[in-house]
Amino acid sequence: MALLQISEPGQSQAPHQRRLAVGIDLGTTNSLVASVISGSASVLKDEHEQWTIPSVVHYSTNHEPLVGKSAQEKAASDPFNTIRSAKRLMGKGANDVQQSWLADHYQFDLETGSIPAFKTVVGNKSAIEVSADILSKLRATAEQTLGGDLVGAVITVPAYFDDAQRQATKDAAALSGIHVLRLLNEPTAAAVAYGLDSGTDGVVAIYDLGGGTFDISLLKMQRGVFEVLATAGNTALGGDDFDNAIADWMRTRAGLEQMPDQSSHRQLLRLARSVKEQLSSQDKTSYALNLSDEINISGEISVADVNAIIEPLLKNTLAPCRQVLRDAGIAKTDVKAVVMVGGSTRVPLVRTMVSEFFDQPVLTDIDPDQVVAIGAAVQANVLAGNKTDDDLLLLDVIPLSLGLETMGGLVEKIIPRNTTIPIARAQEFTTYKDGQTAMALHVVQGERELVSDCRSLANFELRDIPARVAGACRIQVLFQVDADGLLSVSALEKESGVLASIDVKPSYGLSDGEIEQMLKASMEHASEDVQKRALAEQKVEGRRVVEAISSALEADGDTHLSVDERTDIDALIETLLEKLEQDNGDAIKQAIEKLEAGSSLFVERRMNASVKQLMAGQEIEELERTLVSSDASRET
Ligand code: ADP
Ligand code: MG
Repeated sequence: MALLQISEPGQSQAPHQRRLAVGIDLGTTNSLVASVISGSASVLKDEHEQWTIPSVVHYSTNHEPLVGKSAQEKAASDPFNTIRSAKRLMGKGANDVQQSWLADHYQFDLETGSIPAFKTVVGNKSAIEVSADILSKLRATAEQTLGGDLVGAVITVPAYFDDAQRQATKDAAALSGIHVLRLLNEPTAAAVAYGLDSGTDGVVAIYDLGGGTFDISLLKMQRGVFEVLATAGNTALGGDDFDNAIADWMRTRAGLEQMPDQSSHRQLLRLARSVKEQLSSQDKTSYALNLSDEINISGEISVADVNAIIEPLLKNTLAPCRQVLRDAGIAKTDVKAVVMVGGSTRVPLVRTMVSEFFDQPVLTDIDPDQVVAIGAAVQANVLAGNKTDDDLLLLDVIPLSLGLETMGGLVEKIIPRNTTIPIARAQEFTTYKDGQTAMALHVVQGERELVSDCRSLANFELRDIPARVAGACRIQVLFQVDADGLLSVSALEKESGVLASIDVKPSYGLSDGEIEQMLKASMEHASEDVQKRALAEQKVEGRRVVEAISSALEADGDTHLSVDERTDIDALIETLLEKLEQDNGDAIKQAIEKLEAGSSLFVERRMNASVKQLMAGQEIEELERTLVSSDASRET
């Protein structure tokens, strides 16, 4: 007789067969994989008993790609085939590569139109492929430790990753055979880890300084619900920069203008890094790199030296801290806790500076290296269905407003910045010209009023719109940002049901320096932008009136107007057209008013004629077609 399997509604049919899911912190420098085992989340160790796996891949014709520590060991002897920091190029284009320090260290294939790739002995490798190799290693580690196939993973990404970077991360996961349950912002993952452990209510700041990136986020926590209030940061600032600065200091001290070659430069960087890490727990240390009889870099270095070297870099993290407070409209005193995340927050000066800034001690209870992976594992466990109480709702925000180009080169914001995602917002637009059957949609990102000052994301067209008088069609444009921060835009003409849509995957991303720049520019140009917008709107309105009256004149001007009346209206149109060529908003407004007043009799006569026709049995639709629409407030 078979035993009855008893399970609660909504729970897995086979509660003893836990669905294996992991959280992955795919870092620029180090990657980790964690899972919930027997109710608590912990980081999984690889075959070398290491839980931190360097995000380094070594390619060779002799063996499969090496990942982690064994790859890192090849960095000095085979630099070009030992790829690190690939995350910095996820979702990036050739331009970004040329601007990155990576361009000085690796050989790239930057063929236009394709994804930039590292040149290696086994062929070109894109950042996506390199990341996929790292993910494969993490997957193997997890499947070995957990003893089964994974149903999926939550993979974390920096809060500032844009659509292209998020998509690249998903592509890498797909290549490695990992099903992505969800992409999760790194700071949000850290909050999840802390939320479960300490249950803090109130606003919390997450300060994440890793090897390559800096993120600051303000999260509001309430009974296990985490809402991201604001995020800012710098994708080009981290421990790597400390290493570079310390290496420069050691080289200069040794009286060297530059290192003789790539390989010795890398050795020096490794030395700098080890010195830096030692000085997080001791006052001074000595270093030595003996390259040849002439080139000998050695000496003593103290915490005070390191502090002096890195302080200017660290100060650069404080401006984004101020910005999130401003964005969220929150005072420092409202911040209940400051969570430290990332290996670089082990540096004592980092802790001191941050705690001075926020005027309170900082939290380091959970290992700053593990906290992101642990939070991701907790979330993965919920998403895989191993927990029934999935009231763990995670909300992220979009960093820059998303909108559409409207007439006159203006931006209509559909989703404002810092809106929590996932989100869907619809807005109605209409046609601008009589008989218009196609509409171009231009999706832009940014805070400025004019399209030319924003970033273009995508263009698409809605075709086969039924020919109607201007303003009669109703076109619903829907912006949707999914839980991973990916945007799709659709346009639907309501009467005919014609639909067009696009998934937005910009060819390359914005650094958060650029995001900051865009925000700064929007504040600096705010009043100027308002004026420009008012003028542009006035011009759009002017052109719309000219268009409407001209097409009515063409249709039946001769029927309803005497020659003199017609000449008067033509003259008013002429005046308005002249004013539209100049940049005087008031003059345009006056000319519009005069034209409208001057043609009011004509409009009235047409209206009466239409009503008569209607009485004679004409269709309602025909009436609409002959009227001059006056409520076309939103045209694209
Ligand atoms: P990422 O998120 O970019 O992968 P991590 O959070 O793993 O980075 O942090 C890696 C950085 O932390 C490296 O720059 C490393 O040198 C630095 N780091 C690790 N341990 C220490 C330490 N004890 N003292 C100072 N820096 C450290
Ligand atoms: Mg990190």
